[in-house]
Amino acid sequence: TAPREPLLRIDGVTVRFGGIVALDGVSFHVERGQVCGLIGPNGAGKSTLFNCLSGLYPWQAGAIEFNGHSLARLSSHRRAALGLGRTFQNLALFGSMSARENVLVGTYAHHHAGFLLDAIGGRRTRKVEREAAERADAAIELLSLQAVADRCVAALPFGTQKRVEMARALACEPSLLLLDEPACGLNHEELESLGELIVSLRDKLSLAVLLVEHHMGLVMGISDKVVALNFGRRIAEGTPEQVRCHPDVITAYLGE
Ligand code: ADP
Ligand code: MG
Repeated sequence: TAPREPLLRIDGVTVRFGGIVALDGVSFHVERGQVCGLIGPNGAGKSTLFNCLSGLYPWQAGAIEFNGHSLARLSSHRRAALGLGRTFQNLALFGSMSARENVLVGTYAHHHAGFLLDAIGGRRTRKVEREAAERADAAIELLSLQAVADRCVAALPFGTQKRVEMARALACEPSLLLLDEPACGLNHEELESLGELIVSLRDKLSLAVLLVEHHMGLVMGISDKVVALNFGRRIAEGTPEQVRCHPDVITAYLGE
């Protein structure tokens, strides 16, 4: 890929559900190492776009390219292998397993089942396992989870569980992390450290983040750029300040 190529290129993407146009020719880019906030009132199309990126929904028109590859026909594990990481809005952690075991699951997410079957019992097993353990430990350290790594996930506070979930996504070594409402359910303190964490991951790993979030303080505080959707259309794009003051954005949120 040419260095100037954006990491994620969304180009005229349209998604219809029967008569509903959930996304109507949406275009924008996310650059490497950029935190991009995606905002919009309920029903704007944020989750639909997310689901297109993670492979849950097809789109009827337009193109999505990640790292120079079209996403149109790529399976979820291929997307993960290319460096597209995500967390899930409902945690989906394995509660009876330790934090470290949950993160280890993430290190295998970019291998398909066939690869794992090849690896089991084969010569590559030890090497694969060692590399997985190293990636898991690196992610645990990044999220400062060392002290709780061997504790059962179900016994950890909600905010810590969310960090385990992020560590699991990072164990895949993504270049873009999709975060769907990560602030949901966090208290004020946890919210502040989440913001600091996202910024530090961007700076340390040159990680790009696409952040769908209702909490305006968080989005406007940490995003390098913000894209606003309403009724499936992009209504504004720019710095947090530009988007916050955009008349169409103000109008869109009046009814909320
Ligand atoms: P947001 O996440 O911004 O609140 P969504 O992407 O969830 O918005 O929804 C955008 C529009 O698409 C809404 O009108 C919603 O009802 C519709 N929609 C989303 N997913 C589906 C689906 N699977 N089937 C039918 N309609 C859907
Ligand atoms: Mg949504």
